Amino acid sequence: MNQSTMDTLVGKEWGLFIDGQLVPSSNEELTPVYSPANSKLIAEVAVASPGDVNTAVQSAKQAFKSWSALPAQEREKIMRQASAYVRTQADRIGALMALEQGKPFAQSRSEVTSSCDLLDYYAAEAVRVEGYVNPTEKSNLYSWVTYQPIGVCGLITPWNYPVSLLSWKLGPALATGCTVVVKPTEVTPLSPWAFCQALTEGGIPAGVINVMTGGAQVGAVLIEHPDVAKIAMTGSTETGKKILQAAARQLKKVSLELGGHCPAIVCTDADLDLAAEVIAYKGFRNMGQSCSSVNRVYAHLSIHDELLGKICAKARKLSIGDGVTEPNCDLGPMTTAATLEKVELHVADALAKGAILHEGGKKPEGEKYQNGYYYTPTVLSKVNPSMLMMQEETFGPVVPLDTFDTLEEAIQKANDSAYGLCAYLFTRDFATTMKVSQALESGTVCVNNGAVNTPYAPYEGWKDSGFGSELSRKAVFEYLKTKHVKVAS
Ligand code: NAD
Repeated sequence: MNQSTMDTLVGKEWGLFIDGQLVPSSNEELTPVYSPANSKLIAEVAVASPGDVNTAVQSAKQAFKSWSALPAQEREKIMRQASAYVRTQADRIGALMALEQGKPFAQSRSEVTSSCDLLDYYAAEAVRVEGYVNPTEKSNLYSWVTYQPIGVCGLITPWNYPVSLLSWKLGPALATGCTVVVKPTEVTPLSPWAFCQALTEGGIPAGVINVMTGGAQVGAVLIEHPDVAKIAMTGSTETGKKILQAAARQLKKVSLELGGHCPAIVCTDADLDLAAEVIAYKGFRNMGQSCSSVNRVYAHLSIHDELLGKICAKARKLSIGDGVTEPNCDLGPMTTAATLEKVELHVADALAKGAILHEGGKKPEGEKYQNGYYYTPTVLSKVNPSMLMMQEETFGPVVPLDTFDTLEEAIQKANDSAYGLCAYLFTRDFATTMKVSQALESGTVCVNNGAVNTPYAPYEGWKDSGFGSELSRKAVFEYLKTKHVKVAS
């Protein structure tokens, strides 16, 4: 894509999205969005004032009256029509994501279409919110339990998967009859903004989805608003804790999908080609900027060296480029300068404490990488728990390998973390699968695969990785209130 195509695509005006309209912010403040591939300014986006947030919440509150009153079958139909329309806009929304986030265009576009698939999954759930009838203690008593949409929801999202992590919240919210005010991250606001606008163009009624751009302070105002009944947030653990404290003042319902520090245990009987493939995919994909990245590998002593060689071979094969002009490359730049600095710090810290570098560990060479936040896929061995990367989320393309002798040692090392989001296990043995998957302190355990997120299964963090469900039927209940009706005739 050349500069003029990019200018046409991005356009100049990025206001707020309220009641189906593009609206300038009342305070005229703008926040810049830069390309991670070359540090150039892409767009300037409105920063919502407290008054703007109030207008958006009132719009959502008004729209809630009619959206929640629609028959569920009608909501299902509208959601399906809207997602079908968004698919026709996937090139544009995907290009915006590639520009602002750095993810290669092919992967960005695929994130948009898979988000449409997820909305369809939840459209089907709209008609399955069933209550139940209870047997009672007297023959003249009747008792039933029903569910009602919670109201206006604030959806606060991060930059690593800017559209899909939004769709995980939008899907169940819209299906149950809730309306929303979305607060995308200030780092990548364009693609979620365009996704929400396209949904409205595709038939979701005006006011059901509103978008407030800006930073932490905009999110804070949204949480404090008395007409916002629920907050669903994906982001860092540090921010999640602040959000929980703020929401507690009004006892708001909250769901938090936070950071991860995911271990992968590779046993002596594992299929090592498969293990290396999954670990390289989960460690390097999206430049390791994923909550479910493989952050630490524990390899049995007997297969450590062979596994290390196979992961290094995978790392060497990955192509790195500007995902806008090289849409099919494997990896783009990292998304922010701060994320790149953290990776450099973690690698330097590990090397200073005795780790051995086998691949990567530097910026790729060449002029085209000069002004972007690029880093090569990195593989380290001889790591230990004193190193930053073995305790904190690196959020970069780094795979460190440690060893274990007994399964008990592997489990102990894997569980030695404040986080509990996902864990991976590679073994061909059923008894090992049962024992280790049961013992891992983690909301998801993937055995011999890396497909962590599937629409049909709940995604929940344990420990510092948050609480509440995303994905699956269970997430629907995050957006519903329970009502028991007891009638004496
Ligand atoms: P972040 O916590 O910095 O920001 C997330 C969102 O919260 C942004 O929209 C931000 O503007 C907003 N925010 C920040 N402070 C706020 C405050 N005080 N009040 C209200 N809103 C506030 O996270 P990030 O850097 O955008 O994303 C990376 C993090 O997200 C990583 O830690 C990653 O592991 C995590 N993550 C978790 C999952 C999951 O499903 N568990 C998925 C993806 C990313």
